[in-house]
Amino acid sequence: MVKQIVLSQHDMPESWYNIVADLPSAMPPQLHPETLEPMTREDMLPLLPAGIVDQEFATERWIEIPDRVRELYQIWRPSPLYRATSLEKALGTPAKIFFKYEGVSPAGSHKPNTAIPQAYYAAQEGVKRLTSETGAGQWGSALAFACAQFGLEATVYMVRASYNQKPYRKMLMATWGATVHSSPTELTEAGRKILAEDPNSNGSIGIAISEAVQDAMSREDTKFALGSISNNVLLHQTVIGLEAKKQLEIAGEYPDVVIGCVGGGSGYAGLAYPFLYDQLSGKRTGTKFYAVEPEACPSLSRGQYAYDYPDTASLGPVLPMYTLGHTFMPAPIHAGGLRHHGSSPTMGVLAQHGLITPRTYSQNQIFDAAVQFARTEGFVIAPESAHSIRGVVDEALAAKEAGEARTILMHVSGHGHFDMAAYDAYLAGRLEDFEPTESEISTALESLPDTKSLV
Ligand SMILES: *Cc1c(COP(=O)(O)O)cnc(C)c1O
Repeated sequence: MVKQIVLSQHDMPESWYNIVADLPSAMPPQLHPETLEPMTREDMLPLLPAGIVDQEFATERWIEIPDRVRELYQIWRPSPLYRATSLEKALGTPAKIFFKYEGVSPAGSHKPNTAIPQAYYAAQEGVKRLTSETGAGQWGSALAFACAQFGLEATVYMVRASYNQKPYRKMLMATWGATVHSSPTELTEAGRKILAEDPNSNGSIGIAISEAVQDAMSREDTKFALGSISNNVLLHQTVIGLEAKKQLEIAGEYPDVVIGCVGGGSGYAGLAYPFLYDQLSGKRTGTKFYAVEPEACPSLSRGQYAYDYPDTASLGPVLPMYTLGHTFMPAPIHAGGLRHHGSSPTMGVLAQHGLITPRTYSQNQIFDAAVQFARTEGFVIAPESAHSIRGVVDEALAAKEAGEARTILMHVSGHGHFDMAAYDAYLAGRLEDFEPTESEISTALESLPDTKSLV
């Protein structure tokens, strides 16, 4: 039985796949945060590199990957696809479990797939400095790594909960030359406002985005980089699924189920969209797509499909998404990368049409699976990725129950080497579970902007 399927560097995709070309219904436009009128290219140019703005509005199906980006992707791509034979055996399942492993990148997650092109377009336009937010530190690390490749300065606003829980991520970013702040800070208006209301704020990805945006807008030489949610980010991540498709072809397989964890949804989209393309174009039918979220931050499962701001201070473009409300404050779970109140716009459309189905799990449920994965497959994976594993374990057990040899494909978004405190807490039985109440969600939903309804 094959354990690992590797591609050569010549097999790396030459284009990214843009699902906007194939959505089952038109994506509602993004709106300007102040006027609530459709966002134009000109509205975005002060904030983002022009190359990125173009991709944000792109409607063509295939977008060529620049040579320099492909060259840098080769530091770690194509990433390996593994068959989880030992996990299958431990579960006694007839299912075949394949996992695409993105922990092999220098930053340890899938995030460099978009950090590299974002830094590339910025450098091409003479931008000197990029700012961004980071939750668990994965995106900040990826951006710091990418900026170092292009000689750009990087300033990262890191959610305070993670800044305190994960000091090594901050050291990693500093090693690549980035400046890292614990958000909320006193450096921006958005940060000062939050601290005035709650000096002990744990921060959130939404607050950190607001700070990074205000910083970028305050300087001519600086642009902003977003690690998830945007169309352009999801576009860049499709190298994952395009490679996985070739790898499964080599194995003579096609997935019945595609599973991944979802914060903003970029990594899962990266894996799933090239397979969804087959569904949307009628080449294949019947594949199921499961997006796994934390019970503590269930945007697709319990959110409303509505227009909302991507950040707490209402500075970013208003997006059509499944949202818990941009004032929703997720509990400080270890999967910091999944603590976002909203989904990406394309994923919203796909979930609306029932093409993607959400699942939720608690912290203890996902670590049960992550530890089982470590003890079978060997990899100690990120708490975010542990959500994928839990979804896969349940699917594999359901396949056993049904006596079906389903082929399951999963996204393992990163390694967990900087998350050992979380494993330690789990092993010591100290891990807390969190679930927002109905009233917490409905209160946060009152913060939705006054736009026309999406449903
Ligand atoms: C950022 C991150 C996620 C969540 O972001 P998505 O955009 O939903 O993919 C998941 N896993 C890891 C390891 C991450 O760094």
